[in-house]
Amino acid sequence: MAKLIIVSNRLPVKLQEKEGELIFKTSEGGLATGLGSIYKEGDNIWIGWPGQVVEEPEKQKKVTEDLKKENMLPVFLTETEIKEYYEGFSNETLWPTFHYFSQYAVYEQQLWETYVQANQKFCDAVAEQAGPDDTIWVHDYQLLLLPSMLREKLPDCTIGFFQHIPFPSYEVFRLLPWRKELLEGMLGSDLVGFHTYDDMRHFLSSVNRIVGHGSMHGWINLSSRSLLVDSFPMGIDYEKYAGIAKTEEVGRRANIYRNNLHAEKVMIAVDRLDYSKGIPQRLDAFEKFLAKYPEFQGKVTLVMLVVPSRDEVEKYKELKEEIDEKVGRINGKFSDINWNPIQYFYRSYPLETLSALYRMADVALVTPMRDGMNLVCKEYVASRHDQSGVLILSEMAGASKELSDAILINPNDINQMVEALHEALTMPEEIQKVHMSSMQETIKRYNIHHWVSMFMDRLSYVKIKQLSMA
Ligand code: UDP
Repeated sequence: MAKLIIVSNRLPVKLQEKEGELIFKTSEGGLATGLGSIYKEGDNIWIGWPGQVVEEPEKQKKVTEDLKKENMLPVFLTETEIKEYYEGFSNETLWPTFHYFSQYAVYEQQLWETYVQANQKFCDAVAEQAGPDDTIWVHDYQLLLLPSMLREKLPDCTIGFFQHIPFPSYEVFRLLPWRKELLEGMLGSDLVGFHTYDDMRHFLSSVNRIVGHGSMHGWINLSSRSLLVDSFPMGIDYEKYAGIAKTEEVGRRANIYRNNLHAEKVMIAVDRLDYSKGIPQRLDAFEKFLAKYPEFQGKVTLVMLVVPSRDEVEKYKELKEEIDEKVGRINGKFSDINWNPIQYFYRSYPLETLSALYRMADVALVTPMRDGMNLVCKEYVASRHDQSGVLILSEMAGASKELSDAILINPNDINQMVEALHEALTMPEEIQKVHMSSMQETIKRYNIHHWVSMFMDRLSYVKIKQLSMA
């Protein structure tokens, strides 16, 4: 029987050491939810790094056996591979380049070589499991070389690739010294998916100009095979977020949080610590707003949750200091005994707390400089049980293509952001409800399950089409 093999840098679980024993914590990430019901079926399997370096062979054996029961297979990465392939090439070369922060990108041959080596390691792990009729679905920028490595070993396999971050325009992508190898790696796929039509166009243009293959309606004809490039905007588990926000417990917590804030209006912002999220720019806009509209001083509070991330990387450390400094300065300037303009938390919270924060907030501020999709804005919309609430959304987030009922802003335009804040905080409830219910309809329909089935259906279609073209 043909099976599905999912490959991503991280498995949907995280290994943790507890009283000398290694245990697994399941991940609640969007991908894990969406694919959860699929990889557990039959012989299907998810292959990836378990989130911790395990060196001792007996421990590796035990982890492998435990994961096997859950249809997972670990790829054990060494300390050096984590440093050079994951933190290095993936997060310090590809991540900044793909988010249009190429001035932050490092170009180091050693990091590249370890990236190739790690992709090869994933390839060996997959090849050991895969038969010629199997379907392999590779995820994200850590594994750009994997599709063609797999194609070489398994010429008849069905290979899909999905990139969860943006694909930059040719002028930015071409800056990478390994641009050709990266594209050729991706071209081993039968189907290449992106969140948006723009990402897809940028990819096709780079393929054309760097590798010399043109395209027609998303089809690229290689001498050996044709492959399709298409867009699949990823959704969330709508029912999960809507369901939990409606519960009595979340409602109770939302009321407590709100009462403690002593503010008439509450805004929420939730981001991982990352320069692509536009956190300092948002703080500047809020400061300017309070100065321009002093009637809101004492009345509106921004609850800002920043989730620690990559804080061993220098650029992230600097960003953290910049945010700490700005929050301190704004609070120092405007606070009074009963009110703080910003409530800032640098930690992560479980789903119920997040849900209560979404439910209590009149406005959500999602203002990245660049974001592949952005799920936080969709989660906010799904959590608005009474259809009130306003979303301010950056047009640089993939989600803005679907959520045209949000107040769309350019995060570089501070004056536009100031006016957007004013508009959001003064919007009549009937108007809020018109926009919110329209966004809810979209997100409900195009949920994570829809995304998975769209991608898988298109992949089967490509295989059928290839046969008719041969
Ligand atoms: N999130 C979380 N706990 C927190 C804050 C955020 O689990 O304390 C989740 C949030 O619900 C969302 C994800 O982190 O699903 C962030 O995804 P998004 O696409 O917005 O940004 P990314 O971090 O992937 O760039």
